[in-house]
Amino acid sequence: MDERRWTRAVITGGAGFVGSHLCERLLAEGTEVCCVDNLATGSRDNIAHLEGDPRFSFVRADVSAPAALAAVPGPVDLVLHLACPASPVDYLRLPIQTMEVGSNGTRAALELARRNAARFLLTSTSEVYGDPLEHPQREDYWGNVNPIGPRSVYDESKRYAEALVAAYRRTHGTDTAIVRLFNTYGPRMRADDGRAVPNFIRQALDGEPLTVAGDGGQTRSLTYIDDTVDGILALAARGHPGPVNIGGTDETTVLELARFIVDLTGSASVIEFVDRPVDDPGKRRPDTTLARRLLGWSPRVDCAEGLKRTVEWFARTAPAA
Ligand code: NAD
Ligand code: UDP
Repeated sequence: MDERRWTRAVITGGAGFVGSHLCERLLAEGTEVCCVDNLATGSRDNIAHLEGDPRFSFVRADVSAPAALAAVPGPVDLVLHLACPASPVDYLRLPIQTMEVGSNGTRAALELARRNAARFLLTSTSEVYGDPLEHPQREDYWGNVNPIGPRSVYDESKRYAEALVAAYRRTHGTDTAIVRLFNTYGPRMRADDGRAVPNFIRQALDGEPLTVAGDGGQTRSLTYIDDTVDGILALAARGHPGPVNIGGTDETTVLELARFIVDLTGSASVIEFVDRPVDDPGKRRPDTTLARRLLGWSPRVDCAEGLKRTVEWFARTAPAA
């Protein structure tokens, strides 16, 4: 694997779940980090432990606003563009902002990279495959997305962002990369962010029913945060444009996940079946051949271990009600 090191990185969305782990990892590797975040769905708590480090700075700004990133001082040799609400509950609450950050925000982050001749990486998503008709999903699958459904604010904004990144590469020669992340989980997810893992863990710890959507037969391929961070940084270092899938290969149904979390927490919670969200994808599993071949990446933390660590973190930081 390429061992490229960075001098100064800008991480948009760095106060969020994935972003805060990236800030931490890059600082530990000796990179100066500037985190730009408007705290729409992230939290200063996620980066509080980094704020005393003189090599870390935090800028509270909306990256979709004109000139938001123009004030970020150079030089910068890496731009990781994560800013974007990522949980369905969050992006359905912030639909226009989600589209703006995929469009204007991505443009601003690309301009920052272009001005500095920096490496640029967009965290795209398995959602660009929509409700996939091909299984597992390879990077050359174009997807099956409803362009006007409620989820389209996220899916199409990421698809637009990918197109813009590709256009900057073709037009300006910007050194870009696209990573498509699959359902990542771990410490620092908000207990109320609405995604399945934090919801089920919080419900189990609080003795509430676990809200399984539909019959719970839909599948996801969960990825532990440390593996996701490894994959993102490996692609950044490799210099390849992508897109590259980064995701776990153990496909699990949502019902299996809920039952597993009940067992893991020793909870007395029951399962409650609730309405399935509109356009909720029926199955999702990455083909990770490219990540293996190109980056030498494959997931190292299995679900049993990753969920155990996550439950321990939730129990420690958000004790049961
Ligand atoms: P998150 O909501 O925890 O983090 C997103 C961060 O972006 C937050 O700190 C939020 O405040 C910030 N943000 C949002 N809009 C902004 C704006 N206009 N200006 C500045 N900051 C803004 O979500 P996450 O799970 O950490 O996701 C991070 C990235 O990874 C997102 O781009 C998401 O689409 C992508 N992704 C995540 C997953 C996953 O499973 N976690 C899967 C696929 C893709
Ligand atoms: N889900 C669920 N109960 C919840 C939250 C989510 O059954 O309390 C389901 C959701 O309908 C989807 C799956 O779990 O089928 C994963 O949802 P999540 O929001 O974690 O991620 P995404 O839909 O973006 O893959």
